[in-house]
Amino acid sequence: MKKVRTDADRIRAFAEYLSAEGRPAPFDFCSLNAGITYPAPGLDGVLEYFFFCCAHQFGFWNLQNGRWISPMIARLDGRDLKGSDYVWTAATRALRKNPDIFSPHALANLNGNELNDLFLDDGAANPLPMWPEHLELTRQYADWFTTRKLQPADILHRAAAARRPLQMLLDLLAEVPGYAEDPLQKKAMLLAIVLENRPEHFLNVTDPDSARPIIDYHLQRSALRTGLVVVEDPALRARLEAREEATAGEEALIRSVVYESIVALVRLSGLSVAAVDWFFFKNRTGCPEMTEPQCAACPVRHICARSTKLFQPVFRTTYY
Ligand code: SF4
Repeated sequence: MKKVRTDADRIRAFAEYLSAEGRPAPFDFCSLNAGITYPAPGLDGVLEYFFFCCAHQFGFWNLQNGRWISPMIARLDGRDLKGSDYVWTAATRALRKNPDIFSPHALANLNGNELNDLFLDDGAANPLPMWPEHLELTRQYADWFTTRKLQPADILHRAAAARRPLQMLLDLLAEVPGYAEDPLQKKAMLLAIVLENRPEHFLNVTDPDSARPIIDYHLQRSALRTGLVVVEDPALRARLEAREEATAGEEALIRSVVYESIVALVRLSGLSVAAVDWFFFKNRTGCPEMTEPQCAACPVRHICARSTKLFQPVFRTTYY
């Protein structure tokens, strides 16, 4: 018996539901609080901002005594923001002050305190739970570009000129620190859908078949709770429910099976990776980490396994 497996019937039911719902417009990484959470369209330095920020989408939760205890939430300009929103917003604040701030050359010239200051909250603290890893990746990222005398725009232009632009972008990012580490290329694919869907339309994707699912912890939680993925091993299931730290092997196994389930869901639904990702991104607010999921009000309650106690593997990584 496999410890973790996909559920073909459940995936088919979700594919039918999603394709009947039609094709939602993928998120544009702008319209939600444009100018505050995300930079307004056309702002100088936007491309460098997204190259930098996507590489820092990881680790937004707190661990205590071997257990997940809370998401990272911090106050910025009077608003309480969860980790990902916090990074976008803090970086937008920095970009508005200095449009060049996220160019590799500028990053390379900032010392640790100056980099730390970019992410200070209203209480003058840096709330990112994995700040040492963010700092180290920033150093490696800036070095990688500056030693090669390259800019993010050079990567974009090479990808845009290729016969298969999305595949080329993913291949090029597979070399860049901050993107290179994850074999499933979650952050690289996130950057790809940003570049495609931002109002500037930086990248015209003509090879959507090159797209890969964006497997972060929210998508893993959704796949486990909805039953797209089934954990057969009772001991592993109990540890996921208890939110205890997973081993590297357990995390890799669950994440790879979730990846497989989303590949199948994309294929059967006929929707894009970005559209499927956007559905689960929106769904996470009704199926949260800290409070009881609101199954009665959930649009997928009739097809969901409602395994509400299940939780993503608790594992520290810079991949997501
Ligand atoms: S809220 Fe309930 S029905 Fe909706 S996805 Fe979560 S577990 Fe399923």
